Amino acid sequence: MMSKFFSEKFKDLAPYTPGEQPKEREYIKLNTNESPFPPSKKAIEMANSVASKLNLYPDPDCKELTKVVAENLGVKAENVLLTNGSDEILNFAFMAYCDKKTKAIFPDITYGFYKVFAQINGVDYEEIPLREDFTISVDDYIEKEGTVFIANPNAPTGINLPLSEIERLVSNNQNRIVIIDEAYVDFGGQSAVCLVDKYPNLIVTQTFSKSRSMAGARLGYGVASKEIIADLTAIKYSTNPYNINSMTALAGIGSILDKDYFINNCKAVCENREWTKNQLIELGFTVLDSKANFLFAKHPKISGKDLYLSLKDKGILVRHFDKDRIKEYNRISIGSFEQMQTLVSTIKDILEK
Ligand code: PMP
Repeated sequence: MMSKFFSEKFKDLAPYTPGEQPKEREYIKLNTNESPFPPSKKAIEMANSVASKLNLYPDPDCKELTKVVAENLGVKAENVLLTNGSDEILNFAFMAYCDKKTKAIFPDITYGFYKVFAQINGVDYEEIPLREDFTISVDDYIEKEGTVFIANPNAPTGINLPLSEIERLVSNNQNRIVIIDEAYVDFGGQSAVCLVDKYPNLIVTQTFSKSRSMAGARLGYGVASKEIIADLTAIKYSTNPYNINSMTALAGIGSILDKDYFINNCKAVCENREWTKNQLIELGFTVLDSKANFLFAKHPKISGKDLYLSLKDKGILVRHFDKDRIKEYNRISIGSFEQMQTLVSTIKDILEK
């Protein structure tokens, strides 16, 4: 129940529901697409090195980290803005590029937060249905006016749009902004960062939460033209100038310097994903073709909800969305090989009952 003082403008607000983080029992957590691996040792070391300076504000420009991130992406520092998770840069994009005249446009099945960002910013949105096979049809967007948000790979399907299709989406109508949310790109997708120089209407967002094992540190960023970064920076300095805390900024640098660790972890997740996918298919599941650190799967003999509940009962958490079109599915994050072995054997037991 809200208080009677809560602003009228939020009367229809339906806040985002994060995946469960239960503490009452030790679960195998395959429900929020976290990395099963700890952050890089270098990241931990560098974060620790500033713990004793937490009495000081962090650098609001986040200069060092911005330089390292930009170099890593092959762009200039003026093309990058660091934020508190990629959720924050996505919210900034809603604030900067959606209003009464310009609605937000995104698929009917995608990251659930887009709808909430539209609501909290008081802007209209239009959901474009995915095709029957859950792929995005770029043609459905070509004539639309508004600001387009596409997660690529998409969530919770994991399906990836090829870069040529992203370019078609961005280039076809250069009078509107297109945001490509690449939270999962490091697990087999192709990044659109290389298109930023060519298209002044493109914003690419990425995160340290998944492939860099830093979900708890809250670090993400946007890559775009210098002018767009100036817009988004104005929003940042009007909401939260110190959005990146000192420990997170240094952990971010450490993570990027530790290249091999990052590459090996991404590789392990992809291998575990393919192994799990094959096992699930053998058990009779339909599994979408994922290029992310999760699988989206359904089984003809057990409902999505029942499988979710049975797994939870046996100590494994996956994510079930009680939503039309995808109710029969569960989204299963990719954990360590041992965790995936346990998942598969537990599902076998459940199906045999
Ligand atoms: N985009 C997508 C598609 C996601 O699934 C998530 C994770 N929930 C995010 C963005 C935001 O992640 P973060 O704020 O941790 O970077």
